[in-house]
Amino acid sequence: MSNTIEKPSVMAPATTAAAAPVAPAPTSASFDSLGLAPALLRAVAAEGYTTPTPIQLQAIPHVLAGRDVQGIAQTGTGKTAAFALPILQRLAAERRQPPRGGCRVLVLSPTRELASQIGESFQAYGSTIGCRVAVIFGGVPKGKQVRAMERGVDVLVATPGRLIDHMQDRTVRLDHVEILVLDEADHMLDLGFIIPIKRIVATIPSRRQTLFFSATMPGEIGKLAAGMLKDPAHVAVAPVATTAERIEQAVVFVDQGQKRHALAALLRGQADGRTLVFSRTKHGADKIVKQLVEAGLPAVAIHGNKSQGQRERALEDFKTGHTRVLVATDIAARGIDVEGVSHVINHDLPNVPESYVHRIGRTARAGKDGMAISLCAGDERAFLRDIEKLIRAKVPVLTIPGLPAASSQSEAPREPNRHAQRPQGQRPQGQRGNGDRNQGQRPQGQHGQGQHSQGQKPQGQHAQGQRPQGLPPSSGRPRQAA
Ligand code: AMP
Repeated sequence: MSNTIEKPSVMAPATTAAAAPVAPAPTSASFDSLGLAPALLRAVAAEGYTTPTPIQLQAIPHVLAGRDVQGIAQTGTGKTAAFALPILQRLAAERRQPPRGGCRVLVLSPTRELASQIGESFQAYGSTIGCRVAVIFGGVPKGKQVRAMERGVDVLVATPGRLIDHMQDRTVRLDHVEILVLDEADHMLDLGFIIPIKRIVATIPSRRQTLFFSATMPGEIGKLAAGMLKDPAHVAVAPVATTAERIEQAVVFVDQGQKRHALAALLRGQADGRTLVFSRTKHGADKIVKQLVEAGLPAVAIHGNKSQGQRERALEDFKTGHTRVLVATDIAARGIDVEGVSHVINHDLPNVPESYVHRIGRTARAGKDGMAISLCAGDERAFLRDIEKLIRAKVPVLTIPGLPAASSQSEAPREPNRHAQRPQGQRPQGQRGNGDRNQGQRPQGQHGQGQHSQGQKPQGQHAQGQRPQGLPPSSGRPRQAA
C-alpha cells in the first residue's frame, strides 16, 4: 500500500498579492530525490509516508538551500513536514547549543492545537537526529513551559500571546533564532495577532531564514510577508476545500448509540459499488467491522495496527470488489486510491475539517460519481460546523426511515457546540478556532482562495430528503449552487 496523502493539484492560486513567480512544481519525485539525509528518510518511512506531497516537493529543496519561502498551503496538505524535515536537516548539519531560555528555530502558530501538532511532528521527525522541542501556548500554567525552556531548545513552537508573556518575564529569549516559521498567517490576522507578531519578529536577528505559510494571501498578509522575507521562493498548492464541490454530500443526525443501525441500514441496500467507511480510531474501525459482520454485512478494516500483509490483502479484496465495505482510519486511508469508490460514509466526523475533504475525495475519482454521507451525533455538531465553514456550504440532511430521531435534534440544529468532546487519544491536527486568547470565529469564506462564490443551501434542501433504506445512488451531480 502506498501511504500518500491526498494530493491537491498544483496551481497558481487566486491571491491578492502581487503576481509572484511560483516555483516550477515537480510533478512526482521520491523523498530520496529531495536531498534529505538518511536519518530523516528513516523518520519519514517510520511515519509511513512514501511519496512527498506537492508542497513538500516544492518547498523542501528551497528550505534545504537556506532560502526564505513564501508558501500558500492549508493545513492538511503536508505543510508541516514541508518545513520541519529540511529545518531538522539544517539543524543537524551544524549542531549548536542554544542559550538558557533560547531556541534555534521559532515556529509561530495561531492556535494551541496547531502548535501541539507541529511540536509533535518535530519530535517525531527529529527522533532519529536528537532534537529538543518545546511547545508553549496560553490557557495553561507557565511553570512547566519555563522549565522546558530552561536549558534552551532546538525548536520552540509557540502561540504569539503566551510567547510575549514569556519574553516579558525574561523566561524566553529570541536573540539566537536562526530560522523563523510563521504558520497559518491568515489565521493570525483573523485572530488579531499581527501586532504581537511584529513585536516578536523585531527581537529576532535579521540574519535568519524565514518561512511564511498562509492558506490565502490577502493584502495585509502580503505586506506582513514582504516585511519579513528576503528574496523568497514562492510555492503554492490548491486549497483542499475545492475537492468538496464535486461530491454529493449528506449528513444523518443520529445518536451515537444508533450509528451501527444507521450504518447497516445505509449499507444494506447496496447492490453494487464500493463503500469506504471512516472511523476516527483504530479500535473504532475494528468495532464497526465486528458489528457489520454480525449484521450480515461483510467488511474489513484497514488501519495502523494491521500488519502490512493484512492491509494489502484488505485493499486487494476491496479493489477487486470481493469486499464491498472497507473501514479505515484517516491515516490508513491516505494511500487508498481505488477507482470506483461509490460512497464514503463518515461513521465519525473528523475533528479536523480538512480531513473531511480528504475523506470524501476518496470517492468521485477521475470524474466518476460519488456520494459522501456523514453520521453526526450530538457531540459532533461543532465538527460539522467547522466542516461547513471550510467547504462554504451546508451539508444537506438525510433521514433514514425507521431510525429513531436523534435526541439532540431537538436542540437548535446548527448551534455551535464549542464544548463538544474532542476525540481522545488522537493527536490534534490544526483544529481551528481555539487559540490562546479570545478569538473571533474565522469569517466564512476566508478559508481557501475565496474565488468560489457559492450560495449557501439551506438545511434540509435536499433532493433525497427521506430515503428508503439503503444507500442513495451516487449521482455525482454538483449539489451546491455555483
Ligand atoms: P499537515 O498539512 O502538515 O497538517 O499534514 C496533514 C497530515 O498529513 C498529517 O497527519 C501528516 O502526518 C500527513 N502527511 C504529511 N506528509 C505526508 C506524506 N508525504 N504522506 C502521507 N501523509 C503525510
